[in-house]
Amino acid sequence: MTIKRAKKSEATRGTIGIPRALNIYENYPLWFTIFDALGYRVMLSSKSSKNLYEKGIETIASEAVCYPAKLTHGHVMDLVRKKVDAIFYPSVVYEKPEFGEATNNFNCPVVAGYPEVIRVNVDALEEKGIPMYSPFIALDNEKAFIETMKQTFPEIPAEEMEQAVQKGLAEAEKCRRDIQNEGEAALHYMAKNNVKGIVLAGHPYHVDPEVNHGIPELITMNGMAVLTEDSISHLGSIDHKLRVENQWKYHARLYRAASFAAKQENLEFVQLTSFGCGLDAITTDMCQEIIEGHNKVYTLLKIDEINNLGAARIRVRSLKAAIEERDRHHIKPAEMAPPKERPLFTKEMRKEGYTILAPQLAPTHFAMLEAAGRATGYNLEVLPAVTPRGVDEGLRYVNNDACYPAILTIGQMMDALKHGDYDLERIAVLMTQTGGGCRATNYIAMLKKSAPRSRDGTNSCHFPECKWA
Ligand code: SF4
Repeated sequence: MTIKRAKKSEATRGTIGIPRALNIYENYPLWFTIFDALGYRVMLSSKSSKNLYEKGIETIASEAVCYPAKLTHGHVMDLVRKKVDAIFYPSVVYEKPEFGEATNNFNCPVVAGYPEVIRVNVDALEEKGIPMYSPFIALDNEKAFIETMKQTFPEIPAEEMEQAVQKGLAEAEKCRRDIQNEGEAALHYMAKNNVKGIVLAGHPYHVDPEVNHGIPELITMNGMAVLTEDSISHLGSIDHKLRVENQWKYHARLYRAASFAAKQENLEFVQLTSFGCGLDAITTDMCQEIIEGHNKVYTLLKIDEINNLGAARIRVRSLKAAIEERDRHHIKPAEMAPPKERPLFTKEMRKEGYTILAPQLAPTHFAMLEAAGRATGYNLEVLPAVTPRGVDEGLRYVNNDACYPAILTIGQMMDALKHGDYDLERIAVLMTQTGGGCRATNYIAMLKKSAPRSRDGTNSCHFPECKWA
């Protein structure tokens, strides 16, 4: 992308600031091109740094949120300091579809909702009289997207806005192809020069040096090339149905990138995840399954605001040693075994009186669910309230970064299956999926992981008699 910001004198509509944070790393070419075409002077906030982070620290509402989100406060304060006329920071709920196998194109709820957090916590916006435009946008629906932009800027002629958006979409697509071309060029270089490479996979904002703390440089210092997940994900394919619901745009790239790296002899996969990232509680386990399913080494690096590369350095060196060992023994990537078909609940099972276990998610409402199920001929049993043993089971089986409700839900189900008085030959599980951007859609995937299969696809459920794993 060639960015040439308009001069102050050329900006007929004033200056608009955009924070260099979260999904702006994905969508900046789109937003820059739109506002530039509309006659704005587009100001991006300064590069991330500890100093910039501290400028916004007092407005951070939750200590538990990930570092990329916390940094957003500093970026908005930086734009306030730069005296922009307005700020544009949209709530992008849906991204543009990229891969056919994905069932949705959600952004993480933190990414999608963070403009609202900024709006209600950064008082300086009101104090300095800087309007912040943060429309809710669905990039997967071009017509709705254009309509929202028109409604957000009613003073701009509709036709002008439409043309600017089209220009922006074309530029975004061009940038996406540029990134992919760079990935292919890097692979070509590696093959030609017999160099190993690492797919350093994360989310778009993990390219921010203040977020990744120089891990890419650490890898190149070890003589290996670094490729981002979005530069090679178009080369991968999902060969078998994933255990998880593939519904987040950035994470769909991770699965493809993992699948591609897993099959290459000269490529490894290292996943970066930020502390506090609830979605990565799902995606890290899935990427690990893909990589290890091909008999390769999966490496996860967890990062936060602390810039201490000691642990990362050891992990990268260990990975390098493992690659050398593997090469010495001529070990090649293996084919991944297809997952076992999930048995469906049939009419016969209903007639045979199979017990259907449902977790207790809402005491008042779920009592009705149980009665309704039984009235229609299903032997439905909603589990009682979670016990301390259920909590222990949840902590044992669920990724530690998952939220407490996930731990309770899976824990009570595992507790019932392991310790309950049920005939495991005649049991089924009923668990709802929310269909939203939160990880709750993936509770069922977490439960499937709790009763894992072995690599060859045979049943290795914790309960020898159990058929549903
Ligand atoms: S996906 Fe994870 S790291 Fe990214 S914004 Fe959401 S919680 Fe933070």
